Amino acid sequence: MGSTKDHIKDLVHNVKKVLPLKDNLDKIIEKEYEKAFEILDEYIEYIKSKYGIDYKKPELIILEDEILKDKPSIIGSYSPIANIIIFSKKSIERAIDKLLKKYLSYIIKGREYLNRGNNSIFMYPLYINEKNEKDIRKSIAEFIIRSTIFHEIWHSIDNSILDKLEKDPTIKDRDYLLTILKDHDNFELRASAFKVIMYYLVNGFHKHKKGYICKYVNIPMGRKYVEKINKLEKDKDKKEYVPYDLGYYYGDIIVAKYGPSLKENMYKILDDIIYLDKEKAIDVIKLYGDNLEWISNDKNSNSFI
Ligand SMILES: [Zn+2]
Repeated sequence: MGSTKDHIKDLVHNVKKVLPLKDNLDKIIEKEYEKAFEILDEYIEYIKSKYGIDYKKPELIILEDEILKDKPSIIGSYSPIANIIIFSKKSIERAIDKLLKKYLSYIIKGREYLNRGNNSIFMYPLYINEKNEKDIRKSIAEFIIRSTIFHEIWHSIDNSILDKLEKDPTIKDRDYLLTILKDHDNFELRASAFKVIMYYLVNGFHKHKKGYICKYVNIPMGRKYVEKINKLEKDKDKKEYVPYDLGYYYGDIIVAKYGPSLKENMYKILDDIIYLDKEKAIDVIKLYGDNLEWISNDKNSNSFI
């Protein structure tokens, strides 16, 4: 296995110029939404039967404008009161432009990677047909929408768990789970971890050698990230992004840990996310970041280096 430094050296600046998206964003959002629920059906059923939650699929609302005028970067949102998931087309278009200008700037051995970390580099793999410029924009739109959907859906699952915990005093580990779920940062951390795991699973990147090269970059980055967490949490502009980044790094470790067997281990992974909080995520990031040899030693990990 090569060092992280070698992999970072392979990152080549490659900013793309692409045409505006002509495809109908509504259609892409609706399609991704239905597809996400089809895939999640068995996992939602598992959580419903194991934890006794009363889960209702949220309604999808698509807005032309921003969800919050003063926060134009918010692409999607879950409202527990109305049980709706909202998407903003304007914010999606803005995020696509931002990614094209600023973040779609890496190629690792012929594969595109998108940096969507908030406070640091966190990379997602992405397939792009480079011959068709319109496809680049569409691929990025799908990437943004797909990953956001899984984040928002996890919020709706967490909300059902919280509901159940509040109503049912007999539930196992109730006090512990209530403490976790009453902390807003944990909500974002858990949803972000789920988003990364599902993104890999849905795209099949966990089975593809080049699909999870990210682990060689993201895991050491995550280890460095937790070292500077106190500093980030004291910075009023960066503080709010910490739970998201921790969730991404945690999710990436889970993907690397299970590799091609990710799907077969999803029930266990879901149980772990249900018990996941900030302390647990930091422990996992430290443990795996300090012992990187586990990646190359793991026969299941489909290592290609
Ligand atoms: Zn969120």
